[in-house]
Amino acid sequence: MPATKFICPNGERIRIVECLRSCPKRCMFLPTLRAIAKSLDRQISEPTVTELIAGVRETYLKKTSAYAVEPASVLYALQGQAIHSINELNTQGEILSEERLKDDITSGQFDLYGKILDTDEEVLGDLKVTSSFRLMRALGIYKVKIDTGEIYKSGLKKGQPKFRTELRCDGVRDLLDWSIQLNYYRMLLERAGFKISRMYIQAICRDASLRIATERGIDKPVYIIPINKISDRWLTRYFQHKAKLLSKAIESKTLPPICSFRERWGNRKCLDYCAARENCPYGQRFLSKKEAMNVKEFSLSA
Ligand code: SF4
Ligand code: SF4
Repeated sequence: MPATKFICPNGERIRIVECLRSCPKRCMFLPTLRAIAKSLDRQISEPTVTELIAGVRETYLKKTSAYAVEPASVLYALQGQAIHSINELNTQGEILSEERLKDDITSGQFDLYGKILDTDEEVLGDLKVTSSFRLMRALGIYKVKIDTGEIYKSGLKKGQPKFRTELRCDGVRDLLDWSIQLNYYRMLLERAGFKISRMYIQAICRDASLRIATERGIDKPVYIIPINKISDRWLTRYFQHKAKLLSKAIESKTLPPICSFRERWGNRKCLDYCAARENCPYGQRFLSKKEAMNVKEFSLSA
């Protein structure tokens, strides 16, 4: 079931059709709102690769319950789609793009395949528009605090040791979801008769020029990240398992267990990013805490 309502900037909820038809004072241009509404209603019946990579509970709730979204929260996804369209328009007939492929478990739409980096015709590429935080993790960059050997001589920290923050680039690369996604597209393409020699993600950093990005070691607007092969056997078992859990839950109308720690991004997704959170008892706990905090902040500042 797609999102049925928009959440206005004042917190009110309105059916998307009503918003598009008759809002007297729009918070965005009408074509932008229409594009957002269209992007939320994808009309794909089978669970897609990205839906199966997400938590089973999240996908179950999005497929079975009506939910509301803030239009602004979909803008980043829309930027991503715009980048996809720009690339698709410039393949000049020599690069394949945006084809949806299916098997008996799922379906997925790869971004680019062909001579996208050099003379190699067998390169598969995926486009991402992402944050410096996500990129920092994907590149294995992390921060360490180094004791300077000095102490604060005055102020609140008087007597405490002084530290400076340094970046390291040898951390574990958090690329699993992106790798699983791209590898499944590889598998679908290979089964359709195409050879894949290498895989890459082109990640565009949406906050690249900001200080926060520099502090995270992200000093370029775009990164090309190589992706390693994952075994077909592992991929098939992983997707079969998740597809089975999802279809069982839908058939029995039973809420699946909470998404795993990784799937819910250590709760950050439940708090701010999961569109299913208003129908999820676990997500509701975070929402009520957040609302309680906002009310407190409001009463303090009022
Ligand atoms: S345009 Fe914005 S303010 Fe108006 S109904 Fe739609 S979401 Fe609400
Ligand atoms: S709110 Fe959290 S646990 Fe609930 S569906 Fe969303 S990601 Fe999963």
